[in-house]
Amino acid sequence: MLLAFSAALSTLVGSFYSTYQVQKEQLTSYTLKSNLAYAQKLASATDNFLKSALQQLEYSAKIIEQSPSNSKLLNDEAIRLNHQTDSFNSVVINLHGVVAATSPHFESLIGQQIQSPGAIEALKEKRPLISEPYLSAADNLIVFISHPLFDFEGKYLGYIGGSLYLKEKNILNELLEQHYYKGGSYLYVVSSNKRILYHPEPARIGNVIANNAVIDAVIDGEIGTSTVINSLNKPMLAGYAPITLSKWGIVAQRPLESTLSSLDTLTIEVIEQTIPMALVTFIFIGLFAHFIARPLKRLADNANTLDDPKSLEKLKSVKSWYFESQKLKLAMLREVTLLQAQIGVLRHDSQTDPLTDTHNRRSLNGLLNQLMLKQTPFAILEIDIDFFKRVNDTFGHDKGDETLVSLTNIIKKLSRRDDIVSRIGGEEFVLVLPNENSQSAYKIAERLRKTVESTEINTIGTITISIGIATWPEHSTDIAQVYKCADKALYHAKEHGRNRCVVADIS
Ligand code: GH3
Ligand code: MG
Ligand code: MG
Repeated sequence: MLLAFSAALSTLVGSFYSTYQVQKEQLTSYTLKSNLAYAQKLASATDNFLKSALQQLEYSAKIIEQSPSNSKLLNDEAIRLNHQTDSFNSVVINLHGVVAATSPHFESLIGQQIQSPGAIEALKEKRPLISEPYLSAADNLIVFISHPLFDFEGKYLGYIGGSLYLKEKNILNELLEQHYYKGGSYLYVVSSNKRILYHPEPARIGNVIANNAVIDAVIDGEIGTSTVINSLNKPMLAGYAPITLSKWGIVAQRPLESTLSSLDTLTIEVIEQTIPMALVTFIFIGLFAHFIARPLKRLADNANTLDDPKSLEKLKSVKSWYFESQKLKLAMLREVTLLQAQIGVLRHDSQTDPLTDTHNRRSLNGLLNQLMLKQTPFAILEIDIDFFKRVNDTFGHDKGDETLVSLTNIIKKLSRRDDIVSRIGGEEFVLVLPNENSQSAYKIAERLRKTVESTEINTIGTITISIGIATWPEHSTDIAQVYKCADKALYHAKEHGRNRCVVADIS
């Protein structure tokens, strides 16, 4: 039962465990893949946005280059770019190193030099640029996108640029938040100097993140997936993709815990649904094991008491309902039958005189004890053949044996069912007569003596016997004394001419 139980239990637990592991593997890999796809999609969307922002600036630059000295045109173009396209939080046109127009309009800035990193870089590089994020004079975290302006001769005039205010509503976060992902997934964007450009928690925008393998990989231009420990020490399933134009990186990630939480509830559900069936199985195993073990147990119990006379009946009553137990039962039945037959033979042998097939002395003693226990009075006839040596001497020992058998037959023929015929030694017999007193016993003894005397025995003719008689409890209540009395009476009979019956004196 234990074996079956533990096998079933370990199979159950094993299948739960492997199912859980496979599901976990699948969920993890699915989440990694979908985060990668998500990061790639938004990287390309951001790339497209930046491309179109640069194109817009390029278009405006072409218009401005037509007549850079027309300040109304400059203002109109700045306003148009800012309001029509919605791509930038603010627009600035810089000519000959100073501000020529802004939108929104800041009168105080016109004619001023701007010392922001974006402006300095644009002036220095003289090419289309997307800046690293930086803090502006007005304390805005800014990414500056600019396009150079040249005159007809190709002389550098300045630039037109648009700012994205990263911590305010801007086109980039609108784009990214549209795709806000459910189930604990979120994404963030980092610049090539590892500063956060976008994060669903606004407070984290502008922070620089060091020691993050995923960020290192994505700003190196790699695409991929990875399990990372985030800054809050939680394992995350991340997919990442670079934004090629700006060398930024997008990371889409989901906490491992929330990914697997659905699996936990699923597993609990599976376990709950399995339990009733498992219980039924266990009960079935228990019952089955019980029914298999029961005949074996009963057979084993019987094996301990095979000498019990009732064991045959007990064995037969065992319900051995399957082949092996049936074979075992039949084998045991055969053994018990054989054993009891042998015991029967041995018991008979141990109680029987082999020559005459009468009770031996051991058996006689047992039977007398039973009579005495039952308080049944009885007479003992001690019978001895007269001059038996002569029979042996004259006809040989074999004829002597035959004579002993013939005498036994005569005694048996004359005795009743309850009488006990016993050969206790050589040519001496004891005949026990229950419920007889000295007188009646004497009569029976006389009849026996006369019958023997007158019976012709093959080849040897006739023999005579002498009989000594004593009774229990008349002569003594002690059986040894009764024997002694009978001995004495027999001796007396021999002394007084043999072929006679003598009742012992009652002392
Ligand atoms: P008595 O009249 O005094 O009894 O004379 P007896 O010759 O019968 O003397 P006793 O009873 O003392 O002798 C017994 C003889 O019986 C001795 C032995 O030769 C013979 N005898 C004893 N047992 C057996 C036996 O099993 N088979 C045979 N054939 N003879 C036996
Ligand atoms: Mg004798
Ligand atoms: Mg004799």
